[in-house]
Amino acid sequence: MTDVFSLPPDAAEPHLHVARRSLERLRTVPGLAPRYAGHDGPATLEGLAALPPLVKDDLNVALAHLEPQAGQAATWLFQSGGSTGAPKVGYAPTGFYMAGVYAHWRPLDRDDVFVNAWGAGRMWGAHFLAAALADLCGCRIIALGSVTRDEYADWLAFFAARGVTAIGGTPSVLRLWFANARAAGVRLPALRKVLWLGEAWQPQLEEDMAAVAPDARRWGMFGSTETWVVGTNTPDCPADTFHTLPEQLVHVGPDGLLDFTTLDPEMLNPVLRYRTGDAGELTACPCGRPGRAMRVLGRRDAVVQLRGLGLHVDEVVVRVEQEPGVARAQVLITERGGRATGVDVLLLTDPGARPDTGRLRKELLSATFTLSTAFQHDPESFRVRTVDELVSNDRTGKTAAFVVREEA
Ligand SMILES: [Zn+2]
Repeated sequence: MTDVFSLPPDAAEPHLHVARRSLERLRTVPGLAPRYAGHDGPATLEGLAALPPLVKDDLNVALAHLEPQAGQAATWLFQSGGSTGAPKVGYAPTGFYMAGVYAHWRPLDRDDVFVNAWGAGRMWGAHFLAAALADLCGCRIIALGSVTRDEYADWLAFFAARGVTAIGGTPSVLRLWFANARAAGVRLPALRKVLWLGEAWQPQLEEDMAAVAPDARRWGMFGSTETWVVGTNTPDCPADTFHTLPEQLVHVGPDGLLDFTTLDPEMLNPVLRYRTGDAGELTACPCGRPGRAMRVLGRRDAVVQLRGLGLHVDEVVVRVEQEPGVARAQVLITERGGRATGVDVLLLTDPGARPDTGRLRKELLSATFTLSTAFQHDPESFRVRTVDELVSNDRTGKTAAFVVREEA
């Protein structure tokens, strides 16, 4: 039983008083109290695993009721949960728990010139937590945020002139920086560190990084606005494997779904067996660092219903992104009255590349049972096309693997 936890009992159980306090707080939430009736403790990892898990909306229900406040300084409100609809709110104190991250992970040092390219504003958290980490590291910070398409060239020239050594952003944003630099022939030989958080790593990035900044290596964080940073990795770790922090207890459920429990008494969000929707496993990391590392195997909610059949969106996206010249792909599902009227696979291509969309479309149709069956009578409703931009969520700044649009 305890081998499904990131920490052994002797390391985790002395800190379960934090989980007990989270349980007490959750019990005061009218919408959640009934489900915790009859649950006590937890005093042991077994007791913790017996508690009902929280899913995304549960935590937002709890936070709306609890409205937690930091003991000292400010309480920050950030966007939390869901990729569509109105903003939901997560809370964090100034510092964003990054001292705990810094104790175990120091990708930056005093000599670094760090470009913080995570978007700032709009209640996004990543820019500010990266700034807090950089503050602890004592490096120089260029607080850039997001830029528009015609600003890349000028900023890249500025990076080169300033001898920028580090940059951080979501992989989608980093992909744009490196692809634009490569297309413009810009080289950043001083750039050694690429920090990322917010999405899975995109292996296609490595090719552009090798051309633009041959000495650059990736340094990853895994987390969410509810849990904050759960784990980190280094260039020696696989991109999908993270060393979890001691104040973050990770549990692998029988279905492979990960849930997270905070052991940090300062944490404002009552994170108690909280499921992000990510599946994963605990494993030894090939980098050799002892202890159990968390390998993230992708989101379990990436299966969408298409005319009564389940479409594994990630399989389609991964297949298409293997195609030379395709930088990123996205599945756009158009619906009318809840029924899919069409599916478009959108391709963001490398500058100058022209992938064979007709051949790709045929291959996807014949290789994907769900697509060939769902569009048996109207195969023309399945399309593959190149676009200038994928569909981004203006609210979260993320580009999801799939988007559903209601037809007018
Ligand atoms: Zn490792």
